[in-house]
Amino acid sequence: MKDLLSRRDALKTLALGAGTLLVARTAGAGAEAAKPAAAAGALPHVAATDPVAMALSYVESAKGVDAKKFPTFKPEQKCGNCLQSKGKEGEAWVPCNLFPGKLVNAQGWCKAYVKKP
Ligand code: SF4
Repeated sequence: MKDLLSRRDALKTLALGAGTLLVARTAGAGAEAAKPAAAAGALPHVAATDPVAMALSYVESAKGVDAKKFPTFKPEQKCGNCLQSKGKEGEAWVPCNLFPGKLVNAQGWCKAYVKKP
């Protein structure tokens, strides 16, 4: 019986720990989303070696897009006018929904591009 109780206590402790981690992670994500746009300048730029950037074929300059590889690409498509970007007109580096906590080049592009309405 005592062994059963200690197992039960261990499971309770594990459940509490998992819940605490989930709350801490959620609170951290909320704090990240609440950062003012002014703080965006302090965020790191997406690196060419970033696994998500590589998967999306992200480039810092849309001029470098291989039109043969991406036949739907058009020269006017840039991060600065993409639906996923959250930057303001004229900013060189902008936040992107696909790269939380990082900035993409406003002149960049990736294959997830969708024109802002
Ligand atoms: S989703 Fe849009 S803003 Fe983000 S990297 Fe791709 S083209 Fe740029």
